[in-house]
Amino acid sequence: MNKPRDIQTMETVSLWVNGKRMDAASGRCGEVTNPATGAVTRRVPFCNRADIDAAVAAAKAAFPAWRDTPPLRRARILMRYRELLEAHRDELARHVTEEHGKTLADATGSVQRGIEVVEFAMGIPHLVKGEHSEDVGTGVDCHSMRQPLGVCAGITPFNFPVMVPLWMFPVAIACGNTFILKPSEKVPSASMRMAELFKEAGLPDGVFNVVHGDKEAVDAILGHPDTRAVSFVGSTPIARYIYETCARNGKRVQALGGAKNHAVVLPDADLDFAADALMGAAYGSAGERCMAISAVVAVGEIGDALVARLKDRASRLRIGPGTGKDMDMGPLVTRAHRDKVASYVDKGVAEGATLVLDGRGFKVAGNEDGFFLGASLFDRVTPEMTIYRDEIFGPVLVVLRARTHDEAIRMINGNPYANGTAVFTRSGGAARRFAREIEVGMVGINVPIPVPIAFYSFGGWRSSLFGDQHVHGMEGVRFYTRGKVVTTRWPATDTAAPGLNMPTLG
Ligand code: NAD
Repeated sequence: MNKPRDIQTMETVSLWVNGKRMDAASGRCGEVTNPATGAVTRRVPFCNRADIDAAVAAAKAAFPAWRDTPPLRRARILMRYRELLEAHRDELARHVTEEHGKTLADATGSVQRGIEVVEFAMGIPHLVKGEHSEDVGTGVDCHSMRQPLGVCAGITPFNFPVMVPLWMFPVAIACGNTFILKPSEKVPSASMRMAELFKEAGLPDGVFNVVHGDKEAVDAILGHPDTRAVSFVGSTPIARYIYETCARNGKRVQALGGAKNHAVVLPDADLDFAADALMGAAYGSAGERCMAISAVVAVGEIGDALVARLKDRASRLRIGPGTGKDMDMGPLVTRAHRDKVASYVDKGVAEGATLVLDGRGFKVAGNEDGFFLGASLFDRVTPEMTIYRDEIFGPVLVVLRARTHDEAIRMINGNPYANGTAVFTRSGGAARRFAREIEVGMVGINVPIPVPIAFYSFGGWRSSLFGDQHVHGMEGVRFYTRGKVVTTRWPATDTAAPGLNMPTLG
């Protein structure tokens, strides 16, 4: 562990403003840790209003020229950016593992899913095409267009340091906006590298900027008169705050919140297949995924057989540093978060759930200061228990029992979170019914983590998303543009001028 004396001389992450690294004016800083060792690795500045003003001013100044850059030329810069991201995929994944803790293979996969959004955004000349109607009236034509908004901002969580920012800024920038990213203060480094690579791809200075910090920086973004739209991904209480504040300040907003994702295992399911799939879904990335399955609903008589399979597999997970060979699961992001997750296991026991597998007290030899926790599994959990109601965001899977498919659907539709869900079954009819009746944004049929591919949109319902548009895909394009409809007449010189009545063009 680093002593406080070392921290004074430690690297401080820069901001990225107007195409170059910049030091923050604010004197406040936080610490970035390597979760596998517990060591503080660098400091991160907590921007103040002056820092945010500088970034917004750069983005505002860059907007007119970028808006007027033809979409095809913007797309060509994105094409070069895609090549650079691909070439630096392993380096970006290493940043993710070093600051978040997840395994390198998992980090690499998440970088790849982010690059796919850049591939989607490369089609921007086609994606922003409008419509045209000839002769909506005699000699009158009508066309629509979508135009960029101006300075947009993104505020992102710790759990996907590359992928979640890439859900936002490539689409916003392809649409002709300029952008300010405030990544999580726990994982700031990958965003800086993504900004450098974008410049190398030919992006003009000021179009993409990165600031760091906590509530003070976020509030300065939300309150700035020149930020037009805010995309947020994080926990539900902060998502709700972002949504309400932006609405009050007249800004467009999409705020994605937390989750409690259920997998329903129907009596006809292949239990080995379901148990295998649930291992990655529940414990991959140490359960720190917004699409992680954290609750399994076992329907009918299969409960005991399913729990036995889950216990067997979960107790064999290989847990260690994310850089280790063949690891299934790394540490949690911070000591505080690890302790909070462990305290939920205490609560589950106190509230009467059956603890089938206890991950508390798990240690990795040689990494005793790392923020590790073993996999925990609870059975016979009921909907009123805290471990079911709260988002734990760690390697804790809870199993509930339901008598029927109907009861399982009712349970899920009654939960305040509604990000993702999955059903395991061999019946097409049962799966179709589940997909139609379930009130959740993203649904998997025998697919445990149904994260939509980049050309569809990602988003949940109820307390998992505040706003109208999901991220990336066509909803992302709509979010970062506004519509305009132009009605045109080229009058012949002898055409009478329009009168004072409501025009009926025909
Ligand atoms: P968080 O809400 O603590 O932080 C998210 C962002 O908000 C960070 O950039 C942080 O600096 C900022 N922030 C924190 N407190 C703030 C405050 N009081 N005022 C203003 N800004 C504040 O979330 P996290 O812990 O970084 O990430 C985990 C959460 O994100 C989980 O709840 C997870 O489900 C959720 N998540 C959701 C999705 C989704 O698509 N719905 C995706 C990933 C993560």
